[in-house]
Amino acid sequence: MIKEYNETKIINQLIEIVEYGKQNCLFYNYKFSNKSIKKLEDFRMLPVTKSEELYENTPPHTTNILTNPTLSNSYVFITGGTTNKPKYVFRNFEDFDDQAKYFKSQNFSKTDRVANLFAQGMWGCFTSWNKGLEKLNCFILPIGSSSLKDNIIDATLKVFEDLKINALIAVPSTIIKFALFLEKKPNSVWNPERALKILVGGELMTPSMIKFMKSIFKNADIRSLYATTEIGGVGYQCEFCKPNQYHVFKNIFLEIVNKDNPHLAVKANNRGEILATNLNKRIMPIIRFSTGDEGKFIDNCSCNSNDPKIEIFGRMDNILCVGSTNIPLNLISEVVELFPELTQNFQLIADKEGPQDVLIVKIEAKTEKLPKKLKDQVKTAINNTCSEPINNLTVQFLPIGGIERNPRNNKIKRIIDYRWL
Ligand SMILES: [Zn+2]
Repeated sequence: MIKEYNETKIINQLIEIVEYGKQNCLFYNYKFSNKSIKKLEDFRMLPVTKSEELYENTPPHTTNILTNPTLSNSYVFITGGTTNKPKYVFRNFEDFDDQAKYFKSQNFSKTDRVANLFAQGMWGCFTSWNKGLEKLNCFILPIGSSSLKDNIIDATLKVFEDLKINALIAVPSTIIKFALFLEKKPNSVWNPERALKILVGGELMTPSMIKFMKSIFKNADIRSLYATTEIGGVGYQCEFCKPNQYHVFKNIFLEIVNKDNPHLAVKANNRGEILATNLNKRIMPIIRFSTGDEGKFIDNCSCNSNDPKIEIFGRMDNILCVGSTNIPLNLISEVVELFPELTQNFQLIADKEGPQDVLIVKIEAKTEKLPKKLKDQVKTAINNTCSEPINNLTVQFLPIGGIERNPRNNKIKRIIDYRWL
C-alpha cells in the first residue's frame, strides 16, 4: 500500500506556509491573491513556482520573494549555470536545524569521523552539511575534493588514517574518482575496506555508480540524499531504499502531478513531475516548487517509517532525442557499465550535419591502452539498447579528466545540444 499524506495533519501546515508567504513576500502575495486554502484540493489549485521565477524575484532584480530584504542572519548560495549568470538562493541560519535530521536518518552520530569532500562550487552542500554534522556532535574534517588530486592523494590518505576517518560526504563523481584511484593502489595506508559510511548528494547516483563504489569500499553503507539548492533536503534513504528511492523528510510536502497539468495529482504508482513545498523555510519560502524531476510514490517500506516513499527517475529533461531516437541518460550509463575499461564519466553531444542529427558520445576511459574493437562494441551496444539505431553515432574515448567540467562545481554537463544554437 502507498503511504499518503494525512490530509488533516498536513493541511494546517500548508495553510500556515501559504499565509506566511502571502503576508511576507510580494511575490506570493501577488501569485496567490484571491486564493484561500481550506483543503488539500485548494492547495493543489495554486500555481506552481518555477525556478526562473525564484531568480527574477531575488537580488539584483528585486527582493520580492524574500521575507527579510536586509539579508541579515542568512547564507546565500550560488546555483545554476555559469558564473556570468549567477542565481542566488538564501537560507536563514535557523534553516540548518533541519539539516541534522538528514544525517540522523543515515545513522550518523557523535562517534563518526567525517571527511567533507565537497568541491569548490558546491559551497551550499559543503557548508550546510557541516552545519548538520555539527548538531550531531560528529568529528568533522573539511578537506574538499581537491585533496584527491594525484600529486597529494598519498598525503590525504595519511590524514584519513591519522584521524581514523570512517565517513565520507561528497558528490557521487568525487567518490567514483577516489575509488578509481584506490583501485590502482590496492595497499594504500588508509584501507577502504573498513566499515565506512558514505553519503552523497548534489548529483543523481545511478545503480551502476553504487556498484562500482561497492567494489572498492567493500564494507561501506552507501546512501544518497535527494536535495536541491532551492528547497534544501527533500528525501533520505533508509537501509531498505534502492539507489533511486527516498523517504520524504517531514518538513517537505511532496506532490507528484501530471506533467501537463500541475493541478492534477497522478494516480497511485504513476509517474509525474515532483513538486515540493518546504514547510519550514522562512527567508525565501518555497511553495509548490517545480523540481523538473520525474518520480512516483511507492509502497510502504520495510523500515515502517511513516514518511512517504518515492522513486525518482531523474530529470525530465534527461532524455536526448536524436533523429527519431530517444536516448535516456541512464541507458548510456547501463551500456558503459558493460565495459570495465570505461568510467561513468560520459557526455552526450547532439549536433547537426546538414539536415541530419548527429550524436557524439564522449566517455572517459580508465586506461590509454584500449582494445581496438572497443569503439565498435560500444557503438553496437548503444544502438542495440536504443529504441531505434542512431544513424550518425560517434564514440570518443578520453583520459580521466578529458571531458570538460563546469569550472564552478567540477560537474560534467551530461547533455550538450548544439542543434538549437
Ligand atoms: Zn524505509
